[in-house]
Amino acid sequence: MINSSRPDARRNASPYLYGQEAAAVAQVLESGQYGHTGVTEEFERGIAAFLGVDDAVAVSSGTAALHIALLVAGIGPGDEVIVPSQTFCATVQAIVACGASPRFVEVSPDTLCVESGTVLEAITPATRAVMPVLYGGRAVDLTAAEEVLGERGITVVEDAAHAFGSSLGTQLVGSTGALTCFSFGPIKNLTCIEGGAIVPRTSQEAGVARRLRTLGITQSQAERGRTTTYAVAGFGLRATLSSVHAAVGSVQLEQFPIVAAKRKALWRAYEAELHSMRDVVLVDVDVDRSVPFNCVVRVPERDRVHKVLHAQGLGVGVHYPPNHTQPAFAPWHRPLPVTEMVGGQIMSLPFHPAMDAGDVHQVVSALGRALATVREEAFAAGKTGR
Ligand SMILES: *Cc1c(COP(=O)(O)O)cnc(C)c1O
Repeated sequence: MINSSRPDARRNASPYLYGQEAAAVAQVLESGQYGHTGVTEEFERGIAAFLGVDDAVAVSSGTAALHIALLVAGIGPGDEVIVPSQTFCATVQAIVACGASPRFVEVSPDTLCVESGTVLEAITPATRAVMPVLYGGRAVDLTAAEEVLGERGITVVEDAAHAFGSSLGTQLVGSTGALTCFSFGPIKNLTCIEGGAIVPRTSQEAGVARRLRTLGITQSQAERGRTTTYAVAGFGLRATLSSVHAAVGSVQLEQFPIVAAKRKALWRAYEAELHSMRDVVLVDVDVDRSVPFNCVVRVPERDRVHKVLHAQGLGVGVHYPPNHTQPAFAPWHRPLPVTEMVGGQIMSLPFHPAMDAGDVHQVVSALGRALATVREEAFAAGKTGR
């Protein structure tokens, strides 16, 4: 059993704070200015510097980042956006929020990520964007599709909600030329408690993204203080990142190498333990180049294995049930046999930086016992002819 004096170790995912966040938040609260202020802008500069890019636009959530990035790319009604069904529903909701249509595609069962060939096959005359999801933190390489995408004016909007700190080759995700979106939600590699960011490709895109996050108002907060009016130039959302959240993010960014190392070590510990386990396939995250977000295995009889582990208080989860079979997305359903198969096999094991190698060992032992139990049940059922 998992050590009950550290209840966190049982959880599937958990926010990880370093300790200095509370003081940073207190400082903001004492300042009396909580909205979008210089603290938010400092966080934006920190993210851009970390990625080695010119700019980053902080927003209130990863979902808002995806929505705004699609709007920046000019996506609207009548447009089609290629997206893997195997993602969090937020990716798809961002497309629907623009009035566009998701075109669901398959992922590789080994990585749960889309591949260039699949993207190329899914292109129609209406395709205006493709949203690779960097599942588990793994960068998606669409180089082989780049030329065709460029010729047809199809924008790559990366859902890098899992992938802060990961790299494609030697380049950090966010610096590879895509319109990249990060989530800084509670359980992500870097957390603002709630938050997100868009990495714009040009200063023009940065301007549009900033306007979209502040209700379409063109003037900055500081400019508005000096004048008696403001201009609402177009559609806009209310999706700024508060200084309270940004202050948490800045502390997290400073300490990020610590969590990155912990997450890599944890994933490697799982890999070593699961290596020779019968009936278990570990979804590969390319750990040398990634900061892993989760640890996902594919197992037979997933629902029964999940039930056994859950009954023991172990934080197992499923990330994610496929989207093409969700009621909300029924208008865009198409058969996706690989996704449907994989969707019935995947299970996320407890994975967060407060865990250690001992916790991993206990989780894997429990998984081994659960698989054996389910195999015995199946054998007994076979014998009695059930
Ligand atoms: C978390 C997540 C999002 C949404 O981010 P929020 O900050 O929760 O809005 C989008 N896509 C994926 C794959 C995610 O995991």
